[in-house]
This record gives sequence, C-alpha cells and structure tokens, in this order.
Amino acid sequence: MTNLADKILEITGEDVYLCYFCGKCGAGCPMADKMDHLPYQVIHMVQLNDMNALNAKSIWICATCFTCSVRCPRNLDVARIMEGLRTIKVRAQQQTIDLRKVEDLEKLPPIALVAAGRKYT
Ligand code: SF4
Ligand code: SF4
Repeated sequence: MTNLADKILEITGEDVYLCYFCGKCGAGCPMADKMDHLPYQVIHMVQLNDMNALNAKSIWICATCFTCSVRCPRNLDVARIMEGLRTIKVRAQQQTIDLRKVEDLEKLPPIALVAAGRKYT
C-alpha cells in the first residue's frame, strides 16, 4: 500500500499533516473513554505511516458525530479521516459483514442494522 497519509488524502481529501496536536478533537469526543487511541493519536499514527492505525478499535467506535471536525482549528475533518481508515479496511475485506448471514436479523434494532451497513459494507 502507498503511504497511509497519501491514501487518506486520496480517499478523503484530508491532509493529516495539518494536525498540530492541540487535542481538541480528543477532548470533545463523546466516545473517547471507549477508544483505545484518541482521535489525534490515530492521526499521529497515520502521519508516521504506522499501520496500527488500521487496527485501532477507535475507528470503529467513532460514532461519526462530527464534534471533532467542527472543533478542529486546522479545519481537519477528523470524522472523515476515521471513515477513510474504515474504508481502507473494508476495501481490503478485512472488516466486513454479510448482513444475509446475520441470524435473527428481524429482531435487531433497525438503527443497529443501518450503522452496521454503513460501517461494514
Ligand atoms: S483538533 Fe485538529 S489540530 Fe487539534 S489535535 Fe485534533 S485533528 Fe489535530
Ligand atoms: S466523529 Fe468520532 S472521533 Fe470525532 S468526536 Fe465524534 S465520535 Fe469522536
């Protein structure tokens, strides 16, 4: 794979090198206490071409609430970067779900199916 930062730029149009680690994205994230790496830590990994960014649980825990994107003083769309990392995983077939194989599909809350469909297909 090409450099991770270049790949994210290609998929999302976001330049991770703009981040100067002010921490605002992590401070305002409502899912931060569930994450293994705060949003700016994930971005730092991408800057360093550290492929562990693709294995961070945080990219799946992100609720795409856009709080980080609104607060970033560098106008980085952090939520979009998280989605870009998920996209890389899904395209590599490393993190997908086949909804046809989910048991008791009709018993699941529709919002859970929509969320799973958005993230894992
Ligand atoms: S808010 Fe923006 S500049 Fe600050 S750490 Fe997060 S991504 Fe970087
Ligand atoms: S979009 Fe994701 S990373 Fe950003 S504040 Fe919301 S949950 Fe946190």
